[in-house]
Amino acid sequence: MSDYLSPSIGKLTPYVPGEQPRDGGYIKLNTNENPYPPSPRVIEAIRNETARLRLYPDPESEELKAAVSEYYNIDKNQVFTGNGSDEILALSFMAFFMKDKPILFPDVTYSFYEVYAALYGIKYNLVPLNPDFTVPVEKFCTENAGIVLANPNAPTGIALGTDEIRTILENNRDKVVLVDEAYVDFGAQSMVPFIKDYPNLLIVQTLSKSRSLAGLRVGFAIGDSKLVEGLNRVKNSFNSYPLDRLAIKGAIEAFKDVDYFKETTWKIVNTRERVKTKLRDLGFIVTESRSNFLFVSHPGFPARDMFARLKEKKVLVRYFDKPRIDNYLRVTIGTDDEMDIFLQRVKEIFL
Ligand SMILES: *Cc1c(COP(=O)(O)O)cnc(C)c1O
Repeated sequence: MSDYLSPSIGKLTPYVPGEQPRDGGYIKLNTNENPYPPSPRVIEAIRNETARLRLYPDPESEELKAAVSEYYNIDKNQVFTGNGSDEILALSFMAFFMKDKPILFPDVTYSFYEVYAALYGIKYNLVPLNPDFTVPVEKFCTENAGIVLANPNAPTGIALGTDEIRTILENNRDKVVLVDEAYVDFGAQSMVPFIKDYPNLLIVQTLSKSRSLAGLRVGFAIGDSKLVEGLNRVKNSFNSYPLDRLAIKGAIEAFKDVDYFKETTWKIVNTRERVKTKLRDLGFIVTESRSNFLFVSHPGFPARDMFARLKEKKVLVRYFDKPRIDNYLRVTIGTDDEMDIFLQRVKEIFL
């Protein structure tokens, strides 16, 4: 470790994203990217905007906020935008969770939450999920300085209903409940209609998954204008221009092309349900996923070995070497053709 580092930075364990192989030929089912390209209108908008790259972008990306607020029928000052939802999560932890008491999030969830907490020295308690990976709602109604829930959860894909999240909100009125809805468009219920009822509700979404724009880096948060104001304070103390011109224009079109969005998400949900049934026929345990991935385990075949054998066969899925989930694989839903090859390779491994 370099002697030049600030002491607290030397102690960090950074997040490790899923592999992005440089050699081609893989069927890539490991980072929950969308298998379909972004809307053609997005590409066209980005191309047109290149003429203006000499100029700084709008620091508040007002036009994008307007597109998001129109889509959700909310006020523009209830929307915050950022360079991917990861950035918004980082700003939120700083804005709302640097308190004396610990924040709460599940023991099995998006692993970036622990990384942000460690980065800012935020105390946290991990709430164990139930044995079936559902969220024990009552355990989030105990003393805390804030709550983070991914809904649907990652990497399990299991979703809470709005009633359950409302119970958590009602029992935590004096602190922020952050709901990370990265996968909500694939069949879960969004909490957006409830922001007017709960000033402590902060929803974070991304264009990386359901709008096929992981490479553009755009996320947004929705909540009471006071929460948005809090996020702006941190953002404007850190980076005035988190979204570049191309990202702003592309994201606006992604929101406007509702038909394309509906068609591609519908296709992914259909493929997911079909693959889920086939995997269960092969003896896999598959959680009830409301996301664009399946979380699977096989009683007769260790997940670690399955991961390695699939990789040899040029199919990349995600394996987490972590307590409770080290016998599971997370499989992103690709196109129907990709998933047929995936199923074929799995069968070959079993032979
Ligand atoms: C993918 C993902 C994110 C990050 O999305 P970006 O907008 O690409 O940064 C955040 N939360 C969860 C749960 C995710 O799975």
